[in-house]
Amino acid sequence: VEQPPVDLSPDKIRAVEDVVSRGFFPPAYWELLNRVAAYYYTPLIAAIRVALPPGLLGRSQRRIKLIGEIKPGVDAFCTPAAKEILALLQAQPNKDYSFVYLQRQVRNAYRGVRELLRLSLVESYLEPPRLTRPKLQKAVTLVSTGLERDLTSRQQEILDVLRRQGGDIWLSELLRLCNASPSTLKTLEQKGYVVIEEREMLRQEQGVLQAADAPKTLTAAQLQAVEAITQLEGCDRVLLHGVTGSGKTEVYLQAIAPILSQGKSALVLVPEIGLTPQLTDRFRARFGSKVCVYHSALSDGERYDTWRQMLLGEPQVVIGTRSAIFAPLPRLGLIILDEEHDSSFKQDSPIPTYHARTVAQWRAELENCPLVLGSATPSLESWISVRKRESGVGSRESEELPTTVNHQPSTINRQPSTINHQPTHYLSLPERIQSRPLPPVEVVDMRQEIQEGNRSIFSRSLSEALQQLQARGQQGILFIHRRGHSTFVSCRSCGYVLECPACDVSLSYHHVEEGAPQLLRCHYCNYSQSHPRNCPECGSPYLKFFGSGTQRVAQEITRLFPQLRFIRFDSDTTRTKGAHRTLLTQFANREADLLIGTQMLTKGLDLPQVTLIGVVAADGLLHLPDYRAAERAFQTLTQVAGRAGRGDDPGRVILQTYTPDHPVIQAVQQHEYERFVEAELQQRVALNYPPHGRLILLRLSSVEASAVENTAQAIASYFNNYITPGWEILGPAPANILRVANRYRWQILLKIAPDLQPVLPDWQQVRSLCPHNVSLTIDVDPLNL
Ligand code: ADP
Ligand code: ZN
Ligand code: ZN
Repeated sequence: VEQPPVDLSPDKIRAVEDVVSRGFFPPAYWELLNRVAAYYYTPLIAAIRVALPPGLLGRSQRRIKLIGEIKPGVDAFCTPAAKEILALLQAQPNKDYSFVYLQRQVRNAYRGVRELLRLSLVESYLEPPRLTRPKLQKAVTLVSTGLERDLTSRQQEILDVLRRQGGDIWLSELLRLCNASPSTLKTLEQKGYVVIEEREMLRQEQGVLQAADAPKTLTAAQLQAVEAITQLEGCDRVLLHGVTGSGKTEVYLQAIAPILSQGKSALVLVPEIGLTPQLTDRFRARFGSKVCVYHSALSDGERYDTWRQMLLGEPQVVIGTRSAIFAPLPRLGLIILDEEHDSSFKQDSPIPTYHARTVAQWRAELENCPLVLGSATPSLESWISVRKRESGVGSRESEELPTTVNHQPSTINRQPSTINHQPTHYLSLPERIQSRPLPPVEVVDMRQEIQEGNRSIFSRSLSEALQQLQARGQQGILFIHRRGHSTFVSCRSCGYVLECPACDVSLSYHHVEEGAPQLLRCHYCNYSQSHPRNCPECGSPYLKFFGSGTQRVAQEITRLFPQLRFIRFDSDTTRTKGAHRTLLTQFANREADLLIGTQMLTKGLDLPQVTLIGVVAADGLLHLPDYRAAERAFQTLTQVAGRAGRGDDPGRVILQTYTPDHPVIQAVQQHEYERFVEAELQQRVALNYPPHGRLILLRLSSVEASAVENTAQAIASYFNNYITPGWEILGPAPANILRVANRYRWQILLKIAPDLQPVLPDWQQVRSLCPHNVSLTIDVDPLNL
């Protein structure tokens, strides 16, 4: 498709450095961006794009437009999506539409547009970038202080409202509070009672007002941790390993307070901000308006204004997700990564595929400020860097442990690693607040259940516990690792499985309300279609649902325990802004007995009234084709279990599985983090997997199957000529799911032994092996293989 040229008159072209150095970020920042670009093998502009808010660089949208007249009947063979889009465009033939708009209007818009492009019925082009500007608004200020004479009652009312509001208010707000007409205001201005002027209005996410909260009296372990963090020097790094419910947040809060009083700012990164309204609330209750929230779900305007406020404003506490590691705070005093093990800190696309923890280490170094990594289930990366400190690798001068460090993990293998530049101090909160016990974990063997005639998705033990929940006045959580109703639908007559037309995966069944057409949805590309009555292959009406998602479990609860009120908590029910907060508040207000949810439940929820946790099927997490599957399953299950018994009533966890002897299940049951990670590390060492060695994954994709395969072969043979001792090249191989959204995907895995400074290839040359229709992403330290 030909694209109209973007207006590139010379006065509109400026050097990147010229633009970004004009007060867009603090001095150390330029070096940070360069490190990101170098380490992740991306052009500098990609690092800048990922760091800066889109409105600062200019955002451009793809727009779609009709080409000429459409002959009747030309869309006869088009999909419904393409037809719908065509109708939309034809209604106003001279108008063009942003692709984002079409996606909001039409289901499967992506495929529809592709089809129309192929038929040359529409054209698409990238509009010139648009810059975000400060938002100016009229404000009204009271200037007269004395008695006002000759005023009509209308005018008097306005002045009274103004006075009640402290003499200064946005015009729009004033108009809302009293029915002032513009002419009355004008008169007041002419008489010199008020001044009306344009002022910048900061677009920022407004928090929910919190009652002020005083620092808690710390437990001995918390006190030690706060003191140790306060004493950290330079860019010291510390791992705060605190079991679930041990009060890590209070440690963060009290470690940040002195930073603010020194006139510095603190940065707190969390996995997903929508999921943790509680955490933000707790910070707001402590630090009030000094708390500011920054993440990529903010609007362009909000991100732009928050950015400038961070850059120029008072010392503050910024809470944000992955991308907030690039918050342009000039005097940074402390960086905290909460739930540092969480995989959402890693960006998969677009490039650079950075990990916020890695970038945080550089940021800490460049700003000379300490870094705290907090978790109940630390990543193997952080664990190994604590051990490195113990085994004496790294800088000698920081070898003295702070006196307050209370525990050192045991050592099995002393393996140095190349990933971490610097050893990490270790702090632990080994107990829950008020010495509450960790909940006992009861493992139920589901094979046994079937043998003994129980075919329900709930074991007898879990059923009993659910039955008693209400009578005991308690609340529970059910964890299921998938959303939707069923993970696949298959024909009982011929075995046909309904699959996504664009991906090599089965379609998930989503139950819509009774009577409406039921949906099948692809969880990879979001394609959806209505659920057929009959098998598309043999016509048989006997279609069966397999694999339970949250909806299915919810249905079963309704059927078996009609008295239990539940709330579903997954990405389907929390799509709208503020939905997380609403659902969690309902649950906290006891408007439901059960929370039925996915992975979302694992991220730091503090619900003291929850006593029962049911893991409906742990197996879905265990058997994934990824060397990190065990680590991730252990972390997820431990975090889920950790939601129980955080209040006065003791908790209880029922974990259903078909493989009760699996080491992960055993470790979760025994609450044995250390033994689990040590065993896991030994396996990683044996195979040179991270954090022992390093990985670089080359992801190739194309709409043409043969093009991507041939390119993968060519790149692999290039690397085979390159090979140096200690390197390994795995593949080329098709990705786990070969085709997603009609793109075929191949990959090559480069495995680099520890302590090896490999001679890296000329990436330019590698890229030149890719024809225009094959895209290559270099994923450094990939998390998903
Ligand atoms: P974690 O993040 O380690 O899982 P939280 O920070 O959510 O734990 O703390 C668990 C609960 O204990 C919270 O309800 C918190 O308010 C409470 N808490 C934390 N520290 C103290 C303390 N020193 N005294 C009393 N309660 C505390
Ligand atoms: Zn069939
Ligand atoms: Zn799909």
